Amino acid sequence: MNTDEFRKYGKEVVNTVADYYDNVNNMKPFPEVEPGFLFKQLPWEAPFQPESFEAIQQDIETKIMPGMTNWQSGNFYAWFSSSSSFPAMLGEYYSLMFNIIGFSWIGSPAATELEILVMDWLAKLLGLDKRYLSLNVDGTMNKGGGSIQTTASESLVACMVAGREMMFDRLRKNGMSEDEIDQHKYKLVAYVSDQTHCSGEKAANILGCKVHIIQSDSSFRLTKQALHKAIREDKSNGLVPFFVCGSFGTTNTSAIDDLNGIADVAEAEHLWYHVDAAYAGAALACPEFRNLAHGIERVDSLNINPHKWLLTNFDCSALWVADSTYLEKGMCIKREYLPQNEGNTMAREFSNWQIPLGKRFRALKLWFVMRMYGVSGICSHIRSHVEQAKWLERQLMENGNFEIMAPVVFGLVVFRINPGALNLQGNLNSINRINIDFIRRINGEGRIFIMNTLLNEQVALRAPIGAVH
Ligand code: PLP
Repeated sequence: MNTDEFRKYGKEVVNTVADYYDNVNNMKPFPEVEPGFLFKQLPWEAPFQPESFEAIQQDIETKIMPGMTNWQSGNFYAWFSSSSSFPAMLGEYYSLMFNIIGFSWIGSPAATELEILVMDWLAKLLGLDKRYLSLNVDGTMNKGGGSIQTTASESLVACMVAGREMMFDRLRKNGMSEDEIDQHKYKLVAYVSDQTHCSGEKAANILGCKVHIIQSDSSFRLTKQALHKAIREDKSNGLVPFFVCGSFGTTNTSAIDDLNGIADVAEAEHLWYHVDAAYAGAALACPEFRNLAHGIERVDSLNINPHKWLLTNFDCSALWVADSTYLEKGMCIKREYLPQNEGNTMAREFSNWQIPLGKRFRALKLWFVMRMYGVSGICSHIRSHVEQAKWLERQLMENGNFEIMAPVVFGLVVFRINPGALNLQGNLNSINRINIDFIRRINGEGRIFIMNTLLNEQVALRAPIGAVH
């Protein structure tokens, strides 16, 4: 394809994208296809002769689109939304144009430095503590800072590695030999709650350490007391606590852990303290939500996903660390072909902040979003979703047939058919079955797509409000 053809087809693609967004709310949010539907329609080998754009475009419309789950539909409530906006798409397009693999400052200075600036902008927009900023007011580079990762899950693994490095260093300083430290690898234990996103447990599995899943309280929060008790038990069994993950907005109910209380324990026990704010962290753009995050200024690492609720297309996961020393220690592998600007602290090597070597130029889309929406536009976006969630909560309560299962703080409404109001006699299983049946009937209509979760053995429906368009 030459540049003239690219100009022509590029316009067609942009038109198709615009048409899609104009019509997405009229499409079914999930497709009516059976597993294997595409294998029956497309060849099982790549074509030997080149094919035309038109042939592929036709397959997009007739074979791919009918099998798409339409995450951008306003009728999609199945999981937290996948944020998308035209400014982000334009930024992403420039990223495709440059197509750099920005693992090193010299790999593309503008990409590294824009990422540093954009992450500082975002940290300030969310009201984060200055420990998480890369640039000090005097223009020097801080020990902490932000970087854009692929996902919250990947950020968590990287931070757990950093926490392990921090613990090893501590053991070393306490006079332990490398052999003894090696033995301790198998005694390390990370703490999450039964409401922590599954990526917490997965990260521990990847590291090969133990994970202690602590029961949350009646409000689905991890408390200081529960963490303290779990650590006491584990230490008496010879284990070595090293990491705790708190949540600001859990997946099930958007509950907020006792962030400040957990910080007390983490400090006393020398744990790496990570906060997963993948979904609800975006709300911190609005000052009225910041008092809910008391203690967040004390964490070692903090992660939010602009690709969930901040108008930025997947993938864009923002990770801040208060001090990058242990993250870099855990992630840096030196080779001759990988330049390291050791003498120049202004030239950050982002491959030492993440699991993959390669890094996409993701800062562009976040930059476009922050510039084209402005802080005011971002705050109105968040507030309008919270208002819509409150509206839904009111409708459900006024209807009388439903009960709200968790406080509606952000954009997530969790509810179920109220067994009392409908005079439903029966045990938990039959109430659960009725709610599962209700979800099947809603999804069966094909108008909206919604999912359930399980809270204390009770089936509940989750309706996250977050569609941009
Ligand atoms: N944390 C929370 C609270 C989530 O809801 C999710 C996904 O929905 C994740 C982490 C994982 O996000 P990612 O897909 O970026 O790994």
